[in-house]
Amino acid sequence: MDKSQQLFNHAQEIIPGGVNSPVRAFNGVGGTPCFIKRAQGAYIYDANDKAYIDYVGSWGPMILGHNHPAILDAVISTAKNGLSFGAPTELEITMAEKVRELVPSMEKLRMVSSGTEATMSAIRLARGYTGRDKILKFEGCYHGHADSLLVKAGSGALTMGVPNSPGIPEDFAKHTLTVTYNDIEQVKQIFAEIGEQIACIIVEPVAGNMNCIPPVEGFLEGLRDVCDQYQSVLIFDEVMTGFRVALGGAQAYYNIKPDLTTLGKVIGGGMPVGAFGGKKEIMDYIAPIGPVYQAGTLSGNPIAMAAGLASLNELSQGEKHQQLAQATEKLAMGFKAAAERNGVSLSINYVGAMFGFFFTEEEKVTTFDQATACDAEKFKRFFHLMLEEGVYLAPSAFEASFLSTAHTNEEIEKTLAAADRCFAQL
Ligand code: PMP
Repeated sequence: MDKSQQLFNHAQEIIPGGVNSPVRAFNGVGGTPCFIKRAQGAYIYDANDKAYIDYVGSWGPMILGHNHPAILDAVISTAKNGLSFGAPTELEITMAEKVRELVPSMEKLRMVSSGTEATMSAIRLARGYTGRDKILKFEGCYHGHADSLLVKAGSGALTMGVPNSPGIPEDFAKHTLTVTYNDIEQVKQIFAEIGEQIACIIVEPVAGNMNCIPPVEGFLEGLRDVCDQYQSVLIFDEVMTGFRVALGGAQAYYNIKPDLTTLGKVIGGGMPVGAFGGKKEIMDYIAPIGPVYQAGTLSGNPIAMAAGLASLNELSQGEKHQQLAQATEKLAMGFKAAAERNGVSLSINYVGAMFGFFFTEEEKVTTFDQATACDAEKFKRFFHLMLEEGVYLAPSAFEASFLSTAHTNEEIEKTLAAADRCFAQL
């Protein structure tokens, strides 16, 4: 019997759904999830030792490929000094300074242990700082699973068709206003009505949890203007886009300065890390110098800091993002050409080192409604055909896929040859 199937059967007896995070269960595509034994460079290896070219990269962190020697060395040497102290270390200062160097809008920042913690803390801070309760988010954007943010969310919540999770009191969810991504007029209209009650706008500057949807021209600029006009806090959730679409994240790519930024994924180099930060005057509102409480036993954990710092240092060398963008473009254009050759209608979005494709007749996908109207059945079939060919794409039509610096021409050519064969079978 297939080893992944065996492990999945076993896992389901003790772990709900057999997984410790929902999208891993292949709910969006059906079938048995691959249980992974090891990974190296652009490849992951399943329990049967089958190799796959990996376009998930642990959902984003592995931008330098798996098992990068500089990260591994940093983790091993730091671990020898002790795993956790619950007291400050110099490494945390070095890390904070590195992040500020790359993302200068983060004048002060604090480390946490996940993207969810980062966004949850940023929202609390924005509410505490403004003294307002309401927040505004966009349909199909996912910002982790904190109560305020799991309303009309993307990612697994969308894949599983549970946009509003039970367990979130109505009284609480009513403070979360949800509008259409890329529709600045709707935002302006809501602000014209109740702008003085809105603490913040939180947005994925490139939406990556309803597939991959870049902001249309003027959208992010419009959000900046509205927040300035109503003294609301603009939060860029760069958990996915940070250090990925450009070294300085989406705010560098689009040249818009948010008040607060949340980070995760790449910042930990594969260890559990997140961060939030921004304007000094807002960040100084947080405990112990300010009234808004936020804390974490393992926040700034030395091993996690070492891995993240090594990852950011490595990424800062050379022209890595130019390389990543070129590779992504080559892959995206190749997918499009292969689909056309086989008479399959396909639309592709990509920014920096993230991309997503849609089985649709539409020339360009820019909205949640367009993304959710795409042919999900075709996606499922394509996903499994590619998996068979040894290519591991994001197992949901509502997730972006990622490249790493370990994806060379060889992997891209192999992927495109596989795609050609798979499109032919659709
Ligand atoms: N924000 C965004 C934009 C994300 O993509 C994610 C996770 N995919 C999160 C927040 C939550 O991060 P985590 O899963 O580390 O809690």
